[in-house]
Amino acid sequence: MPRFIPEPYRIKMVEPIKPTTRGEREAYIREAGYSLFRLRAEDVYVDALTDSGTNAMSDAQWSAMLRGDEAYAGGRSYFRLVDTARDIFGHAFIQPVHQGRAAEKLLLPLYLKPGKYAIANLFFDTTRAHVELAGARCLEACCPEAADTKSRAPFKGNMDVARLEQLILEHGVDSIGLVVMTITNNSAGGQPVSLQNMRNTAAVCRKYGIPLCIDAARYAENAMFVKLREAECAGWTLRDITRAFFDLADCFTMSAKKDAIVNMGGLLGIKRADAPQVQLVKAGCISYEGFYTYGGLNGRDLEALAAGLVEGLDEHWLRYRLGTMEYLGARLDELGIPYQAPAGGHGIFLDATGFYPQIPYHQFPGQVLAVELYKACGLRGCDIGSYMMGNDPDTGKQLRAINEFTRLAFPRRVYTQSHYDLVLEGIEQVWQERQALHSGYKITWEPPILRHFQASLAPVAGEG
Ligand SMILES: *Cc1c(COP(=O)(O)O)cnc(C)c1O
Repeated sequence: MPRFIPEPYRIKMVEPIKPTTRGEREAYIREAGYSLFRLRAEDVYVDALTDSGTNAMSDAQWSAMLRGDEAYAGGRSYFRLVDTARDIFGHAFIQPVHQGRAAEKLLLPLYLKPGKYAIANLFFDTTRAHVELAGARCLEACCPEAADTKSRAPFKGNMDVARLEQLILEHGVDSIGLVVMTITNNSAGGQPVSLQNMRNTAAVCRKYGIPLCIDAARYAENAMFVKLREAECAGWTLRDITRAFFDLADCFTMSAKKDAIVNMGGLLGIKRADAPQVQLVKAGCISYEGFYTYGGLNGRDLEALAAGLVEGLDEHWLRYRLGTMEYLGARLDELGIPYQAPAGGHGIFLDATGFYPQIPYHQFPGQVLAVELYKACGLRGCDIGSYMMGNDPDTGKQLRAINEFTRLAFPRRVYTQSHYDLVLEGIEQVWQERQALHSGYKITWEPPILRHFQASLAPVAGEG
């Protein structure tokens, strides 16, 4: 059992959380249509629904907010953010936006339209939605190790580069609008992508003249994994590693609500200042987000984001962050509980098929496990499996995910060691009771796109 790494921060302000009983939680989840997204957050004890925008800001970030310049155009805070982001990522054009999906909405339609495809090492749900909203379709080429939760490959987020090239040739070079590299690979379990894999992917893109975009939400966790696992980079700084990745991309979209440790914000980057997309992004931003020097954010948000970009790349912080996930993984190994191993950067992805082999994918084992964990200990996670995948946009048929995961994504700098131990106790309890369940859920109502955020469910076996 590895010793845990003590939190590299201390607490200056607290937010009380409220314990609930199992009986109360059973009623709350039934009232919520068995949707974790429709629970009231105050009825959750440890909230691992997402690490997005749920982070605790530092005293330095809160202080920086006081100097936010709220000028409509050309504010000081805009220039501070752009200078910081250019310095880290090396892209000439930086556009702040209110979150990652706003960057996707502005950028993806510039490369994609009906008849085109985007290929990724796996798409995150909103990225998939924005590819489809642009009229294009998604193709995926994730390395095969990602599908095997037990294989302890160091870079399970990698692109399958041979498959990428095969897809390009199968569909025709002219129909591929964009290649997207998601770092870390969220849908594969927060698994990292190696620098060598990024280089190989970029080489294929260059060969066929296809632009390469980084979906960069967890670029800092990815850089730390690369430093720890890729021999060539052991002596590099995290900034060196980050630069090496972004130098290989033509553009990036980034949800700053993850590794940049803010509650709201996003970035869009374009490497070359003279790229035709720059003017189009600025114009789109003015129409949808706000003037391009604030991009839908307050001046104070731009300051918090600039400070967060720097803090998020701190090596001590990231050693603790990855160390916490490793601690959780080591305990699950001891208990023989299946998860996407080795542990990812931002969370633990429990293998729900390993818990419930008796429940078929169209009854959503990942959702079943999420509901059971909530009932057991007030822990909120979510399905990253067939329930999240939704239906094929053309045939309307339920898609089948490669893995049926229940994701526990942990907010940054929010919970302590004892919360993580509580999480482990809850998981162990649900694991011991896993054979008592014989069926899952059916959908009683769903919207046409991104259904898992809003759908209602009912137990297939009827209300117990
Ligand atoms: C969160 C996330 C997004 C979307 O960002 P939002 O800030 O939630 O709009 C896109 N891609 C990945 C990989 C993400 O994790």
